[in-house]
Amino acid sequence: MGEDHQGAVLSAETLSEAPRRTSMLLRLLEERNPAAQVLRARPPADRPVEEAVRFPFLAIVGQTEMKLALALALINPAVGGVLLMGARGTGKTTAVRGLLDLLPSVERSLCPYGCEPEAAYTLGFHMVCKDCARKLGHGEPITAPDRMRLIELPLNARLEDVVGGLDEQAAVEGKVRIRYGLLAQADQNLLYVDEVNLLDPEIVNAILDAAALGRYTVRRGPLAATYRARLVLIASMNPEEGALRPQIHDRFGLRVVVRGLSDPEDRLEVYRRVRLFRSNPYALVAQWAHETAAAAAEIAEARRRLPRVTIPPELERQAINWIHQLGIESSRAEIALLEAARAYAAADGREVVTLQDLRAVALMALRQRRSPFVTTFVAQQEKEDQEIMAIIHNWHRRSNRQRKAGRRGGKR
Ligand SMILES: [Zn+2]
Repeated sequence: MGEDHQGAVLSAETLSEAPRRTSMLLRLLEERNPAAQVLRARPPADRPVEEAVRFPFLAIVGQTEMKLALALALINPAVGGVLLMGARGTGKTTAVRGLLDLLPSVERSLCPYGCEPEAAYTLGFHMVCKDCARKLGHGEPITAPDRMRLIELPLNARLEDVVGGLDEQAAVEGKVRIRYGLLAQADQNLLYVDEVNLLDPEIVNAILDAAALGRYTVRRGPLAATYRARLVLIASMNPEEGALRPQIHDRFGLRVVVRGLSDPEDRLEVYRRVRLFRSNPYALVAQWAHETAAAAAEIAEARRRLPRVTIPPELERQAINWIHQLGIESSRAEIALLEAARAYAAADGREVVTLQDLRAVALMALRQRRSPFVTTFVAQQEKEDQEIMAIIHNWHRRSNRQRKAGRRGGKR
């Protein structure tokens, strides 16, 4: 019996530790210090100048966990966003802007009402407008592929800029109309919020709610409008400049601690690349053009593979067991852990999640989820509940005893 059990554990371990084909993407992301080979690639000519000169994502030295978390969020938006925590100058914003070269394409509705074919095919043709129903009936597309975009939240954004509000221009013309905010623009896009810890809590809550639900309703007086906001949220913060409330931490799928590089060689390599980028940005972009194109293609491929990626039930139970042992209350923990593991397997070209995939993403999915306040609160509540039950139980026993004593008295 004992041997059987051990055998089962051993086989699960062996399976997951078996050598696997590591994709180019994971290799590029996980190499400690990828040394760029100077490729004879020309700088991409079909892009505007300002777009072609950002620091290449893959040329960021080290910071493996940050690069991996960002790539996983692009592959599977269901991981629930990424929070980058680290001091200034650790490359957080450079990394997020570098993602522009890796962004996949998404299907966007061509209809002003935002009709989507999935709604019609799942819930019926009454879910789309007449025009779209007709097009679908004729086999015409109502969506078209479009590149995902990076939307940056301006530091001075007001709540109405973010969620939307009354259209002031229309008001001047005597009309009442709702103007969509930044969240609506961020639908199916990447939304980057720098210094999230310094932002008005009302704005942070609106963004987190929209990111969690994939839609947002703005109400102004008698008017209300709901719009889609299926966004991949990436936020960064410098812990030196103020803490983020613990309940906010839990609302990000993945949390990455971005540390300064400790290896002197790595630091020198950063200096060399930054110097090259300053003197001739095209040269650095060209050096990394081949790897960047390969990584972008792999991310797109991983997104196509993701719907087929499954998790064996014993690994699902393993994940829940870890979360239970850690005393994490929030269900977001297993959603982030399991969805990140699926994205990791998809990135590696596989359709079944292994224990190794879970391990690769466990830290970023599970750290900073425990809430000392909630743990103490729950423990205190359990103690009070026990006291209440003890009193009720004692009273019940006492009254039973009294009833029995009364019956005995009656017999006498
Ligand atoms: Zn329509």
